[in-house]
Amino acid sequence: MKYLITLVALQLVTASSPTKQFNLTVNILPALREIMKTQPISIEVSSSDFSLKSSVTIIDSLKLIFELKNAQTILVRIGSPVKYSDSSERYFYFADNFTINSSSASGSITFPKDCEINRYTGGKTCPKCKRRYDVIPIFYGLPAPDLPGQPGIDFEPAGCFRSSCDPSWYCKKDSLQF
Ligand SMILES: [Zn+2]
Repeated sequence: MKYLITLVALQLVTASSPTKQFNLTVNILPALREIMKTQPISIEVSSSDFSLKSSVTIIDSLKLIFELKNAQTILVRIGSPVKYSDSSERYFYFADNFTINSSSASGSITFPKDCEINRYTGGKTCPKCKRRYDVIPIFYGLPAPDLPGQPGIDFEPAGCFRSSCDPSWYCKKDSLQF
């Protein structure tokens, strides 16, 4: 069964101002649908005409329709923590601009981005040795002096640049990021 949640954001317009329509579809990455179906996703859509900030649960896709007056560019930001069956958690983030240049425009987003790392549903459990014992988190950015906070916390440092397909865990036994 296909579930479709439709939210319509309408804006007051005068007869002399022709409107444009922007259709945005957010599809949940199929591999994560079962895990994410009860977990709220934060969606922000903003332009010169309006801004929408909402937290929704999406079964498999969400369709948003916006009536635009003057907006040329629409910024979409989506973020969500995902909790796996082993109680580990990952945070996914997406941001992109859509340019409106015709009377009707549309955008389609797969969230999280479709890549092998994001399709993995095993959480902190290493896909190779199937264990969590030697698995440590990967930390992005400059470590703050007090970041680990407590002695004995181990983490794998990574660069400051983040993509939509970054690994969250590192298995020391297998030298594997996932
Ligand atoms: Zn391993």
